Amino acid sequence: MQDTEIQSGRSNSDYDVLIVGAGVGGLYALHKLRGLGYRVHVVEAGDDVGGTWYWNRYPGCRCDVDSLEYSYSFNDDLQQEWHWPERYGTQGEILKYVNHVADRFDLRRDIEFKTRVTSAHYDSASSLWTLKTDADKTLTAPFCIMATGNLSTPRTPDYAGIETFKGKWYHTGLWPHEGVDFSGQRVGIIGTGSSGVQSIPHIAEAAKHLHVFQRTANFSLPARNGPLDPDIERQHKSEYPERRRAAYDTPFGIAGYPPPTHSALEVSEEDRNRIYEEKWTAGGSISYLYAFNDLLTNVAANDTASEFVRNKIRAMVKDPKTAELLCPNDHPIGTKRLILDTHYYETYNRDNVTLVDVRTDPIDQITETGLRTAEGDFELDAIVFATGFDAMTGAMKEIDIRADGGPSIGDKWQDGPRSYLGLMVAGFPNMFMITGPQSPGVKSQMILSCEQHVDWIASCLNNMRETGRNRIAAELVAEDDWVEHNNEVADSTLYPLANSWYVGANIPGKPRVFMPYVGGVTAYKAKCDEVVANGYEGFVIE
Ligand code: NAP
Repeated sequence: MQDTEIQSGRSNSDYDVLIVGAGVGGLYALHKLRGLGYRVHVVEAGDDVGGTWYWNRYPGCRCDVDSLEYSYSFNDDLQQEWHWPERYGTQGEILKYVNHVADRFDLRRDIEFKTRVTSAHYDSASSLWTLKTDADKTLTAPFCIMATGNLSTPRTPDYAGIETFKGKWYHTGLWPHEGVDFSGQRVGIIGTGSSGVQSIPHIAEAAKHLHVFQRTANFSLPARNGPLDPDIERQHKSEYPERRRAAYDTPFGIAGYPPPTHSALEVSEEDRNRIYEEKWTAGGSISYLYAFNDLLTNVAANDTASEFVRNKIRAMVKDPKTAELLCPNDHPIGTKRLILDTHYYETYNRDNVTLVDVRTDPIDQITETGLRTAEGDFELDAIVFATGFDAMTGAMKEIDIRADGGPSIGDKWQDGPRSYLGLMVAGFPNMFMITGPQSPGVKSQMILSCEQHVDWIASCLNNMRETGRNRIAAELVAEDDWVEHNNEVADSTLYPLANSWYVGANIPGKPRVFMPYVGGVTAYKAKCDEVVANGYEGFVIE
């Protein structure tokens, strides 16, 4: 019998903690909790670690946060020794890094791969979660952590005729491991979010012809990627501890960008455009959105930043009709995930690329030889769906999660997700989420938010172990207050104006609820710390 079992008397279970998902959050949770003496077991659907970076292998896939930021901070030797070759990591480089972490901390021995959790049921009488898997296996533990990811449930539109298509089709979020050779092919890509915008220049290079089927134009800024400057790397690494601490004092969890102090409407047009030009030249989305302090709260201010980018698009794309179609006009810049690209707009100057507006002329159906709109048929050898995910709630709703035979999480969230701090859901004791809805997760440097949640959960479990308690549940009233606060904060910004996946707008029938917390990492972490200081206020611990 292990120490933890002796201390907690939990020998009636297979493990102390079960974790669903071996992405960046699940892996750190395993490392942290195992180090604290808990018996931890992870269940992962993929056949290896990496989560989002394991599944999204489409050409051009890379992170839109600087590599020196988008990495674990929990081990100084790791962050000092790892060398990032480029400013923004490619999918392959990040996956290599995650694999290195798994090997370095010997994580794989506690992960069950190629296994999907189908149900998770809590029983108050035994104080246990029982997880069932698609391999008909049953696993028990008093605590369960959902590290199931926010963008892990790929969605393909429900077009008639897909089964008749004689060519091959792919979803960017489920890309074949061996890659796809598009050379000589007529390819169609549906979707111009981050995945589409990143992959289009690469597919255009390879394909005989590429048709881009665009429903909504999105804002994209130049990433200005390149080899990582050794001087920048040396300097950044020498400041790592302070930088990591400073990141918690920023809205997006990324240090190094002084907060803006002026409104975009306070300065002359000439100065404003000079500042936008500097940010455009430097690359990166935080830099641009930090040009002024009201870009995400004031429509008139935002419009200056939006128009600057629209003018850049008009200057880059030679055909004026195509340029105008690529100019976003249905949402303020930054209210949908701001995309970073490399030569996206220039790609439309190629002879083998055609932009098709499927807003005015929607796709009717997939045919044997391509796809059909009211305007006519498009002959295609391959179709790429860059159509996104059932974001933030999809992965958890796919598991039958319930407590004491009560309603499932899908039932509880049928009008939109509800949680306390994005950490727990009232009515589901002893189940934690990593970067759940109503936490800053997707609106922050994701690895920082994963670490913050895991550290919070670990310290909560330790507190319970030390005080001989074994059940924690979010109070309904605390959850209601937090959801209300979340909505108020969102409503004080321009975010709700966009039909984004933040509000579930990309999934037909999904309730329109603003899901991430946009009050910023600083305010959020302060709230989490205050809850602990006040004796886990809003939670009942027994
Ligand atoms: P997305 O942002 O949801 O974009 C999906 C695209 O597909 C949109 O253009 C959407 O059009 C279109 N679409 C969906 N259904 C359609 C239909 N029936 N007909 C025509 N078009 C349709 O998905 P994503 O590009 O995969 O990105 C999701 C998120 O993942 C990003 O916002 C980002 O947070 C993350 N991500 C990050 C990176 C990175 O770090 N660089 C890369 C990829 C993804 P509408 O806008 O009209 O719905």
